[in-house]
Amino acid sequence: MEILVLGCGTSQGVPLVAHDNPGWDRGEPRNWRTRSSVHVVIEGHHVQVDTGPEFRMQCLSHAVDEVDTVILTHGHADHILGMDDLRQFCHARGGAAIPVYSTEEGLDRIRTIFPYAIGKTKVDGYVNLDLRDMPEALTLPGGGIVRSTLLPHGVDVLGLVFEEPSTGARFAYYTDCKRVPPAARELARGVDVAILDGLRPEWHPTHMTVDEACEAAEGIGAGMTYLTHMTYQVDYATYSRKLEATHPRVRLAHDGLRLKLDRRVA
Ligand SMILES: [Zn+2]
Ligand SMILES: [Zn+2]
Repeated sequence: MEILVLGCGTSQGVPLVAHDNPGWDRGEPRNWRTRSSVHVVIEGHHVQVDTGPEFRMQCLSHAVDEVDTVILTHGHADHILGMDDLRQFCHARGGAAIPVYSTEEGLDRIRTIFPYAIGKTKVDGYVNLDLRDMPEALTLPGGGIVRSTLLPHGVDVLGLVFEEPSTGARFAYYTDCKRVPPAARELARGVDVAILDGLRPEWHPTHMTVDEACEAAEGIGAGMTYLTHMTYQVDYATYSRKLEATHPRVRLAHDGLRLKLDRRVA
Protein backbone atom coordinates (compact mmCIF):
# COMPACT_ATOMS: atom_id res chain seq x y z
CA MET A 1 0.00 0.00 0.00
CA GLU A 2 1.28 3.45 -0.81
CA ILE A 3 0.21 6.56 1.08
CA LEU A 4 0.92 10.05 -0.15
CA VAL A 5 0.09 12.98 2.13
CA LEU A 6 -1.02 15.68 -0.29
CA GLY A 7 -1.72 18.18 2.48
CA CYS A 8 -1.64 18.30 6.29
CA GLY A 9 -2.76 21.87 7.00
CA THR A 10 -5.75 23.14 8.93
CA SER A 11 -8.87 24.52 7.23
CA GLN A 12 -7.26 27.90 6.50
CA GLY A 13 -3.94 26.45 5.31
CA VAL A 14 -0.52 27.32 6.72
CA PRO A 15 0.59 30.08 6.91
CA LEU A 16 -2.61 32.10 7.36
CA VAL A 17 -3.05 34.69 4.67
CA ALA A 18 -3.19 38.34 5.89
CA HIS A 19 -1.78 37.38 9.30
CA ASP A 20 1.63 37.63 10.96
CA ASN A 21 1.74 33.94 11.99
CA PRO A 22 3.94 34.64 15.02
CA GLY A 23 6.67 32.06 15.56
CA TRP A 24 6.13 30.41 12.18
CA ASP A 25 9.42 29.54 10.42
CA ARG A 26 8.98 30.18 6.70
CA GLY A 27 12.43 28.75 5.96
CA GLU A 28 11.29 25.23 6.92
CA PRO A 29 9.55 23.77 3.84
CA ARG A 30 7.62 21.29 6.02
CA ASN A 31 5.91 24.26 7.73
CA TRP A 32 4.09 25.12 4.48
CA ARG A 33 0.87 23.14 4.67
CA THR A 34 -1.94 22.89 2.14
CA ARG A 35 -5.40 21.65 3.12
CA SER A 36 -5.51 18.08 4.47
CA SER A 37 -5.80 15.22 2.01
CA VAL A 38 -4.23 11.83 1.28
CA HIS A 39 -3.89 9.68 -1.83
CA VAL A 40 -3.80 5.92 -1.21
CA VAL A 41 -2.82 3.24 -3.72
CA ILE A 42 -4.24 -0.06 -2.50
CA GLU A 43 -3.97 -3.25 -4.60
CA GLY A 44 -3.10 -0.94 -7.49
CA HIS A 45 -6.34 1.06 -7.07
CA HIS A 46 -6.01 4.84 -6.59
CA VAL A 47 -8.18 6.26 -3.79
CA GLN A 48 -8.31 10.01 -3.28
CA VAL A 49 -9.40 11.00 0.24
CA ASP A 50 -10.79 14.56 0.19
CA THR A 51 -10.34 17.16 -2.53
CA GLY A 52 -9.60 20.50 -0.89
CA PRO A 53 -9.09 23.91 -2.48
CA GLU A 54 -5.48 23.06 -3.50
CA PHE A 55 -6.35 19.63 -4.96
CA ARG A 56 -5.23 20.50 -8.49
CA MET A 57 -1.87 21.92 -7.41
CA GLN A 58 -1.33 19.06 -4.98
CA CYS A 59 -1.78 16.59 -7.84
CA LEU A 60 0.62 18.52 -10.06
CA SER A 61 3.22 18.92 -7.30
CA HIS A 62 3.19 15.26 -6.32
CA ALA A 63 2.55 13.59 -9.69
CA VAL A 64 -0.94 12.23 -9.00
CA ASP A 65 -2.37 11.51 -12.43
CA GLU A 66 -4.84 8.75 -11.65
CA VAL A 67 -7.93 8.67 -9.43
CA ASP A 68 -10.20 5.61 -9.42
CA THR A 69 -12.32 6.23 -6.31
CA VAL A 70 -12.92 9.30 -4.15
CA ILE A 71 -13.88 9.31 -0.47
CA LEU A 72 -14.86 12.61 1.12
CA THR A 73 -14.55 12.47 4.91
CA HIS A 74 -17.17 15.22 5.33
CA GLY A 75 -18.59 18.28 3.65
CA HIS A 76 -16.47 21.10 5.08
CA ALA A 77 -15.01 23.50 2.51
CA ASP A 78 -11.39 22.56 3.17
CA HIS A 79 -12.17 18.96 2.17
CA ILE A 80 -14.35 19.37 -0.91
CA LEU A 81 -13.77 22.66 -2.73
CA GLY A 82 -11.32 21.19 -5.24
CA MET A 83 -13.88 18.71 -6.54
CA ASP A 84 -14.40 20.48 -9.83
CA ASP A 85 -10.91 19.38 -10.87
CA LEU A 86 -11.93 15.75 -10.52
CA ARG A 87 -13.70 16.09 -13.82
CA GLN A 88 -10.35 16.11 -15.60
CA PHE A 89 -9.59 12.73 -14.06
CA CYS A 90 -12.97 11.50 -15.33
CA HIS A 91 -12.12 12.79 -18.78
CA ALA A 92 -8.71 11.10 -18.66
CA ARG A 93 -10.42 7.78 -17.90
CA GLY A 94 -12.15 7.96 -21.25
CA GLY A 95 -15.73 8.04 -20.14
CA ALA A 96 -16.05 6.21 -16.86
CA ALA A 97 -17.62 8.15 -13.99
CA ILE A 98 -15.63 8.30 -10.76
CA PRO A 99 -17.47 6.96 -7.70
CA VAL A 100 -17.50 9.51 -4.87
CA TYR A 101 -18.33 8.16 -1.40
CA SER A 102 -19.21 10.31 1.61
CA THR A 103 -21.63 10.85 4.48
CA GLU A 104 -25.15 12.16 3.91
CA GLU A 105 -23.92 15.64 4.94
CA GLY A 106 -20.96 15.43 2.58
CA LEU A 107 -23.06 14.31 -0.38
CA ASP A 108 -25.66 17.04 0.30
CA ARG A 109 -22.93 19.68 0.15
CA ILE A 110 -21.63 18.28 -3.13
CA ARG A 111 -25.12 18.33 -4.64
CA THR A 112 -25.49 21.97 -3.59
CA ILE A 113 -22.11 23.26 -4.74
CA PHE A 114 -21.41 21.09 -7.79
CA PRO A 115 -24.86 20.16 -9.20
CA TYR A 116 -23.50 20.28 -12.78
CA ALA A 117 -20.91 17.59 -12.04
CA ILE A 118 -23.26 14.89 -10.77
CA GLY A 119 -24.59 12.01 -12.78
CA LYS A 120 -23.26 9.22 -14.90
CA THR A 121 -23.63 10.69 -18.36
CA LYS A 122 -21.26 12.74 -20.47
CA VAL A 123 -21.95 16.47 -20.64
CA ASP A 124 -19.98 18.60 -23.06
CA GLY A 125 -17.19 16.05 -23.23
CA TYR A 126 -16.83 15.80 -19.47
CA VAL A 127 -17.83 12.78 -17.48
CA ASN A 128 -19.49 13.32 -14.17
CA LEU A 129 -19.30 12.08 -10.63
CA ASP A 130 -21.25 9.13 -9.26
CA LEU A 131 -22.25 9.96 -5.66
CA ARG A 132 -22.65 7.04 -3.24
CA ASP A 133 -23.23 6.54 0.50
CA MET A 134 -20.09 5.24 2.19
CA PRO A 135 -20.76 1.72 3.48
CA GLU A 136 -19.18 0.27 6.64
CA ALA A 137 -16.97 -1.92 4.46
CA LEU A 138 -16.16 -1.02 0.87
CA THR A 139 -14.40 -3.61 -1.29
CA LEU A 140 -12.57 -1.90 -4.13
CA PRO A 141 -11.69 -3.31 -7.53
CA GLY A 142 -8.48 -5.26 -6.94
CA GLY A 143 -9.64 -6.48 -3.52
CA GLY A 144 -8.56 -3.62 -1.23
CA ILE A 145 -10.97 -2.98 1.63
CA VAL A 146 -11.87 0.36 3.22
CA ARG A 147 -13.73 0.20 6.52
CA SER A 148 -15.47 3.30 7.85
CA THR A 149 -16.52 4.58 11.23
CA LEU A 150 -17.95 7.91 12.39
CA LEU A 151 -15.85 10.49 14.21
CA PRO A 152 -17.26 13.46 16.21
CA HIS A 153 -16.48 16.89 14.70
CA GLY A 154 -19.71 18.86 15.11
CA VAL A 155 -20.75 16.97 11.98
CA ASP A 156 -20.07 13.25 11.50
CA VAL A 157 -16.74 12.61 9.81
CA LEU A 158 -15.74 9.36 8.12
CA GLY A 159 -12.82 7.68 9.82
CA LEU A 160 -11.23 5.26 7.33
CA VAL A 161 -9.22 2.08 7.78
CA PHE A 162 -7.57 0.66 4.64
CA GLU A 163 -6.70 -3.05 4.47
CA GLU A 164 -4.61 -4.54 1.67
CA PRO A 165 -5.01 -8.35 1.59
CA SER A 166 -1.95 -9.10 -0.59
CA THR A 167 0.49 -7.34 1.78
CA GLY A 168 -1.41 -7.44 5.08
CA ALA A 169 -0.90 -3.66 5.31
CA ARG A 170 -3.37 -1.62 7.37
CA PHE A 171 -3.68 2.17 7.52
CA ALA A 172 -6.05 4.41 9.51
CA TYR A 173 -6.92 7.97 8.46
CA TYR A 174 -8.76 9.90 11.18
CA THR A 175 -8.78 13.60 10.31
CA ASP A 176 -11.13 16.26 11.71
CA CYS A 177 -12.24 14.78 15.00
CA LYS A 178 -12.59 15.93 18.60
CA ARG A 179 -11.76 12.45 19.84
CA VAL A 180 -11.39 8.85 18.69
CA PRO A 181 -14.42 6.96 20.10
CA PRO A 182 -13.96 3.37 21.34
CA ALA A 183 -15.40 1.80 18.15
CA ALA A 184 -12.98 3.81 16.00
CA ARG A 185 -10.08 2.94 18.27
CA GLU A 186 -10.88 -0.78 18.02
CA LEU A 187 -11.30 -0.61 14.25
CA ALA A 188 -7.82 0.91 13.91
CA ARG A 189 -6.10 -1.09 16.66
CA GLY A 190 -2.59 -2.15 15.66
CA VAL A 191 -2.54 -0.61 12.17
CA ASP A 192 0.87 -0.13 10.58
CA VAL A 193 0.31 3.60 10.25
CA ALA A 194 -2.33 5.98 11.59
CA ILE A 195 -2.79 9.61 10.61
CA LEU A 196 -4.66 11.61 13.25
CA ASP A 197 -6.04 15.11 13.62
CA GLY A 198 -3.61 17.12 15.82
CA LEU A 199 -4.68 20.71 15.29
CA ARG A 200 -2.60 22.82 17.69
CA PRO A 201 -1.47 23.06 21.32
CA GLU A 202 -4.61 24.89 22.56
CA TRP A 203 -8.02 23.34 23.15
CA HIS A 204 -10.51 23.44 20.28
CA PRO A 205 -14.20 22.42 20.34
CA THR A 206 -14.09 20.14 17.28
CA HIS A 207 -10.44 19.09 16.80
CA MET A 208 -7.92 17.19 18.92
CA THR A 209 -4.97 19.09 20.32
CA VAL A 210 -1.48 17.69 19.83
CA ASP A 211 -1.65 16.18 23.34
CA GLU A 212 -5.11 14.70 22.74
CA ALA A 213 -3.88 13.19 19.47
CA CYS A 214 -0.88 11.63 21.25
CA GLU A 215 -3.22 10.08 23.80
CA ALA A 216 -5.46 8.72 21.04
CA ALA A 217 -2.37 7.37 19.28
CA GLU A 218 -1.44 5.38 22.38
CA GLY A 219 -4.93 3.82 22.44
CA ILE A 220 -4.68 2.77 18.78
CA GLY A 221 -1.12 1.47 19.08
CA ALA A 222 -0.10 1.99 15.45
CA GLY A 223 3.42 1.16 14.34
CA MET A 224 3.77 4.86 13.62
CA THR A 225 1.29 7.73 13.96
CA TYR A 226 1.51 10.99 12.02
CA LEU A 227 -0.39 14.16 12.93
CA THR A 228 -2.31 16.15 10.32
CA HIS A 229 -4.66 19.18 9.98
CA MET A 230 -2.12 21.33 11.86
CA THR A 231 -2.05 25.10 12.32
CA TYR A 232 0.99 27.37 11.98
CA GLN A 233 1.51 26.98 15.74
CA VAL A 234 2.79 23.44 15.30
CA ASP A 235 6.32 24.25 14.17
CA TYR A 236 7.82 21.26 12.40
CA ALA A 237 11.28 21.33 14.00
CA THR A 238 10.12 22.22 17.53
CA TYR A 239 7.34 19.63 17.69
CA SER A 240 9.38 16.91 15.97
CA ARG A 241 11.99 17.27 18.73
CA LYS A 242 9.32 17.31 21.47
CA LEU A 243 7.57 14.21 20.14
CA GLU A 244 10.80 12.30 19.67
CA ALA A 245 11.48 12.77 23.38
CA THR A 246 7.96 12.07 24.68
CA HIS A 247 6.15 9.97 22.03
CA PRO A 248 8.69 8.22 19.77
CA ARG A 249 5.89 6.59 17.77
CA VAL A 250 4.24 9.92 16.89
CA ARG A 251 5.57 12.27 14.22
CA LEU A 252 4.29 15.24 12.28
CA ALA A 253 3.16 14.66 8.72
CA HIS A 254 4.29 17.05 6.01
CA ASP A 255 2.99 17.80 2.54
CA GLY A 256 4.52 15.29 0.13
CA LEU A 257 5.20 12.62 2.78
CA ARG A 258 5.21 9.18 1.10
CA LEU A 259 4.86 5.90 3.00
CA LYS A 260 5.01 2.36 1.66
CA LEU A 261 3.40 -0.39 3.76
CA ASP A 262 4.02 -4.10 3.24
CA ARG A 263 3.95 -6.56 6.14
CA ARG A 264 5.71 -9.22 4.03
CA VAL A 265 8.92 -7.17 4.17
CA ALA A 266 8.49 -5.76 7.67
ZN1 LIG B 1 -10.82 20.15 7.95
ZN1 LIG C 1 -13.96 19.74 9.20
